[in-house]
Order: sequence, then C-alpha cells, then structure tokens
Amino acid sequence: MTESTYRIQGATGEWEVVIGLEVHAQVTSNAKLFSGAATAFGAEPNTQVSLVDAAMPGMLPVPNMECIRQAVRTGMAIDAQINKWSRFDRKNYFYADLPQGYQISQLYHPIVGEGQIEIVLDEKNPDASKKVIGVERIHVEQDAGKLMHDQHPTSSYVDLNRSGVALMEIVSKPDMRSPAEAGAYLSKLRTILRYVGSCDGNMDQGSMRADVNVSVRRPGEEFGTRTETKNVNSVRFVMAVVEHEASRQVDVLEAGGKIVQETRLYDPDRNETRSMRSKEDAHDYRYFPDPDLLPLELDDAFLEACRQSLPELPDAKLRRYAQDLGLSAYNAATLTADADTARWFEALLAEAARIQKKSEGDVAKASANWLLSELYGALNRIGKSLEDSPVSPEEGAELLALVADGTISGTIAKQVFEIMLETGEKPGKIVEDKGLKQTSDTGAIEAAVADVLAKNGDKVEQYRGGKEALFGFFVGQTMKAMQGKANPQVVNEMVKKALSA
Ligand code: ADP
Ligand code: MG
Repeated sequence: MTESTYRIQGATGEWEVVIGLEVHAQVTSNAKLFSGAATAFGAEPNTQVSLVDAAMPGMLPVPNMECIRQAVRTGMAIDAQINKWSRFDRKNYFYADLPQGYQISQLYHPIVGEGQIEIVLDEKNPDASKKVIGVERIHVEQDAGKLMHDQHPTSSYVDLNRSGVALMEIVSKPDMRSPAEAGAYLSKLRTILRYVGSCDGNMDQGSMRADVNVSVRRPGEEFGTRTETKNVNSVRFVMAVVEHEASRQVDVLEAGGKIVQETRLYDPDRNETRSMRSKEDAHDYRYFPDPDLLPLELDDAFLEACRQSLPELPDAKLRRYAQDLGLSAYNAATLTADADTARWFEALLAEAARIQKKSEGDVAKASANWLLSELYGALNRIGKSLEDSPVSPEEGAELLALVADGTISGTIAKQVFEIMLETGEKPGKIVEDKGLKQTSDTGAIEAAVADVLAKNGDKVEQYRGGKEALFGFFVGQTMKAMQGKANPQVVNEMVKKALSA
C-alpha cells in the first residue's frame, strides 16, 4: 500500500487534499423499493407510479426483497460487514418531487457496515500503486421524482417515475488523497457493481452519481472543514471537482478566510463549483424510525443464497488472468475492467482452447493480444463496441487457430480479419476461397530469395561487409514477393543460407 503524494503548492506552503465519496447507485430491479411499480429508464412521464409512490394517504410500503438482496450482494462483494438486523428511518424534508414529505432511508442501522475497495493507480505497476479505500457503510433508500422546468411559457412539471426507486448509498471513508485516487475508486466501484449486477453503473443516465466531499489540510494535520459537491455524474467530473474545489479552498485559507461546511453544485460547462446551500446537520431532518415498516431481519439461508449468487469478482479474476493464464498485469487489468469484456474474452479463450486442443493457459496470450490490439483497433475504427462486434468470439478463435497451426501467417491473418469485418464470412472459408494458405514450398521460396538477392546486389555487399541489420530487409522483400504466403520460418532459413553461400 502506498500513500500518494499529491500536493497543492500554495504561497505559504504545501496542502494535502482529503476526499470522501458518497455514491448513489440505483438498484437493478424490476420494481421499486416499496412498491410494485416498474423502474425502466426513459419511460413516458408518470407511467410508472403506484399509489405508494404518489404518497396517497393510507398506502403502506412493503420492502421489495430483490432490492435488499442486491444491497447485501454488493456488501459481500466489497468484503463488508452485513447487518442481519437493520431498520428504516424517515428523513423529513420538503421537495416538490417528494410527495411523501420524507424519504425512507437508513440512518441509524444500515444494512451494510464497513467494507473496503482496493484501487490501483498504475495498472502497469500494480504492486507499487495499490491502495485500500475504506467503505463506511451502504444503506438503501428511496429516490425522489424529477422536476422539469419550461422557460416559455414558464411552468414546472413533476415526473414521479423515479419516485420510490431503490438506491444504495455507498459511503466511503475520507481515505482518498488525490483526484486520481477519487477517479480510481469510482471506476472500481462501478466495475464491482456491474460484475455483481446490482446497478448498471450508467452515470450518464443518472443511475450512478457521486457526492464529492473535499477538504484540505497541512500534511499530517487534523482534517479541515469539508464541502460536499452534489450529484456529479462522471468519473472525469469527479476528478475535476476535487482538483477545482481543493485549489479554491487553498486560496480561501491562504487569504486568511475560512471554509464553511456547505453543499455545492458542479457546472461542467464552466468547470467550477458554486455554493448551493449551507449544509444541514442530521437533526435538521428530524429522522425517526418509520412506523410503517418492521425492522429488516435477514436469516442465514438468505445470506448464504446471496453469497452463492456472486460471480467471480474483478480482483479474483484479475489475479487468475495474471497467475493462471500468464497474462501481463496490464492486459489482465484491461480485460477485467468490465464484466462484458471479460465475458467476451472467456468465450474466445474457451473456443480457442477447444479447437486447438490445448489448455486455456496455452492460448491465453495470443487470444488476449488479438482481442486487445486487432479487434479493439478495428472496433475503434468502425465505431462499434464489443457488444455489437461484427466478429464473434467463435470466429475470432477460428482465426487464431489458423495462425497457430501454420495454415496462415500472422500477416495474412490481418488481411483475413479485414475481410471478415467487411463480409461477415468465416475465416476458414476466406482462406480457402482466396487461396491464402501459407506455403512451405521450398522451391518457390528459394527462387524468390535468389531473385531478391540478385536485384539488391549492393545491399548484399553491405550485409556481407558487416551490416547485419539488413537481414530483415531480405526477409521482408521475400515475404512481399511471396504475397505474404510464405512460411516465415522457412524464409528465414532460406535467406540465411543464400547470404552465407
Ligand atoms: P454526512 O452524513 O453529513 O454526509 P458523513 O460523516 O456521513 O457526513 O460523511 C460524508 C462523507 O464525507 C463521507 O464519504 C466521508 O468520508 C466524507 N468526509 C468526512 N469528513 C471529511 C473531511 N474532513 N474531508 C473530506 N471528506 C470528509
Ligand atoms: Mg451524507
């Protein structure tokens, strides 16, 4: 574990930044936290609202155990204490999009206690750049609705579709010390949520958003007063908020001013934060246990089922890719950074091993290299993602097998891949139809080598005079003359023989 050394240089000396994130993550579930209404994103306004969500008098909330299950699974995925006994509280406040007049949340007894998330700041150098960030708690609560404001004519609308949707609030400890650490923490948390399947992590759709708590202090001294910038909706913006807010605070303090604990808003267009309101304390909300809801009590069978349902998690997968499959730390990190990429890679790997009758470890490096350079390169170029890749893992595996068994060379494989992308045809058929099979026909290769040497007499002189770097030139020219179809090993041998003759 290393402490990062991000420092802000002020006129009067150095400052350290302290960051804690409160992340709201919308729980993946077909129904809301206390009602059966649907939760799909982008529905027509007010089409997913039950009487409970509209806060009609006399309606009673009933906990949706699927949401509870998702929160527990998330807690387990970050090695957290799971509280078998938890309770819901009312947090009272008025908002036009909160018809209940209170939010049902968990202040005193959250469902998940302390946990931890490991971040890596430099994927190429993981051991030296690891850091563990503490998680204070995860509680579940209701989301509010949405207000929309029209300017011409001036009017406001309420959409209650989001009202009552389940959120997990994941509260970190104030353990981060730089914009990079805050960014890495948020990315890692999103990766974990997506693996677990408890939140889709789509920050641009608002299903995950971060409140960014920032303070500054002299290195090693007591924590300073923090500000909280609300609802920041991308990793990049979180990092920008930290950077901006820390330097603003340093300026205030160095000018002899004081930081007031307040809630701020981030304006991405101007890259600045603005004061929104002074920060409320818990007692301002007059929290009290919700009398409509019994405490939640979870039994061992429920917890065990939650545990059994967890997939292989990102850290474990990364370790397996590096240790068992022999991939570089960087490739292992890239392939495991999101669950879909890992799934695609594993399908490729399984198929490549099956066709080549080898172990997954034996085909892992070639598979990873092809996916990360060839396939990613092509997808970038045509503006597609792995999900809508025109080439399937099975087709990729077939192409890799053709190279592995010497049917085609690596150079020809690139051409075949281009044709696969254009036509959607299978690699084996392309190689057959276009006659791209690699040849080890020594007669043909020998003739090509002789021709290349004859045409480049001056270079042959230079080579024999000691300029050995020219070897690659002769090989390249021969391959070119053979239209890339010659077996490279045979070409190498032939060139060597001809030059030393
Ligand atoms: P509240 O309930 O008022 O939001 P919490 O104690 O729950 O306050 O803390 C909220 C968040 O603020 C947590 O993520 C915590 O890590 C972070 N935090 C607390 N103190 C500081 C500080 N001095 N500087 C930066 N972040 C802080
Ligand atoms: Mg808070």
